[in-house]
Amino acid sequence: MTSIDQTPLNTADGKRTYDLDRSHVFHSWSAQGSLNPFVVAGGSGCTVWDYDGNEYLDFSSQLVNTNIGHQHPAVVEAITRQAETLATVAPSHANLARGEAAERILSHAPAGFSKVFFTNGGADAIENAIRMARLTTGRDKVLTTYRSYHGNTGAAIVATGDWRRMPNEYARGHVHFFGPFLYRSEFWAETPEQESERALRHLERVIQSEGADGIAAILLETVPGTAGILVPPPGYLAGVRALADKYGIKLILDEVMAGFGRTGRWLALDDFDVVPDLITFAKGVNSGYVPAGGVIISDEIAAAFNDRVFPGGLTYSGHPLAMAAIVGALDAMESEGIVDNARMIGEQHLGPGLKKLQEKHPMIGEVRGVGVFWALDLVTDRNTREPVPASVIGGLKADLQRRGLLAFTAENRIHVVPPCIVTPDEVEQALALYDEAFTAAESA
Ligand code: PLP
Repeated sequence: MTSIDQTPLNTADGKRTYDLDRSHVFHSWSAQGSLNPFVVAGGSGCTVWDYDGNEYLDFSSQLVNTNIGHQHPAVVEAITRQAETLATVAPSHANLARGEAAERILSHAPAGFSKVFFTNGGADAIENAIRMARLTTGRDKVLTTYRSYHGNTGAAIVATGDWRRMPNEYARGHVHFFGPFLYRSEFWAETPEQESERALRHLERVIQSEGADGIAAILLETVPGTAGILVPPPGYLAGVRALADKYGIKLILDEVMAGFGRTGRWLALDDFDVVPDLITFAKGVNSGYVPAGGVIISDEIAAAFNDRVFPGGLTYSGHPLAMAAIVGALDAMESEGIVDNARMIGEQHLGPGLKKLQEKHPMIGEVRGVGVFWALDLVTDRNTREPVPASVIGGLKADLQRRGLLAFTAENRIHVVPPCIVTPDEVEQALALYDEAFTAAESA
């Protein structure tokens, strides 16, 4: 693995990187004028560094995707080897890396799934899963939760529940409902059981009110991520499956963020008694070393396209470099016990450590999560649960960075989402930095 000592670093390169970015790069989800991007020169494992030689613990996993950490040598080598063999190939041709990637992915899927459709990332996986559900049901509507993010393409962004949907509402047939979230319950629930039961009742009423025979799919993140790391309460996902069956609706589970190690399971759905019809994935499948995503397709849906044309495709579907990265990443995750590590870290280090922080800092209203997938829900008052303003989150993020930690923030929350390879020592270091930053924020 590359280390900081092997990388030639100088401040001039850092300045040039920053200047080129500010002059010519148009960034996602931002007003461009006031951006001040962090300049990354390199990385290794859970650490990244800038051109001045400052090191940072990456507790964001970039965009919650570097599950295997930075510059894992097995993945870099797999990409290099494939680049030397065949750097690109048409999607219509058969290619060994693609077949092996599909086989590896399916080995972690529930029984009854034996085909994968590859895409360039998560959003187009969602587009194609929705398309498959619509074509196989002959129905149009797609039900998703308000607290969700499903990607930035035509249907995926309108399936999204959060604010990013509204300026993009051009796709049709999307209906939103409230999923379970006990800490900020829409259902006046006081226990996880009540939240689950009432959220299911609400969903059934939405299905009936929208007209069940017009609904193609219910699309859910198995564990909603960007919306706040909302681990579903007992019985919820099984209850959604039962409603989908009752009304002839396909169930799509979006595992783009939660899948491939993040929850300490190969798929987040492994923790629940649920088998969907379609599973979308991206991010952790190859830690984003080369962009890739896809849809894991149930045998029943795959069979529907045996004699009927599937009207969808991409030039880079199953791109060999991305596929080699999948094989390299999944093999290394398996042989190095990386998924088990994520589980152990959550149970023995991150979960207990963050709960201790909560005892000390009144600003932390709730700690929730699993594996290496945790949210700190920050409040101005624990009784009212009023979210802290954006300025507090912005201040904490900047302060953590000054102290040497890259944080992931969303709305009033800090998401604690290190790579799945994170060690107990790195967790201790990070907890100390969060502690210092909260202490500073509370005394400000
Ligand atoms: N679905 C979920 C749950 C996500 O978290 C994301 C991205 O964060 C997407 C879909 C979209 O993936 P991509 O950005 O690769 O298109």
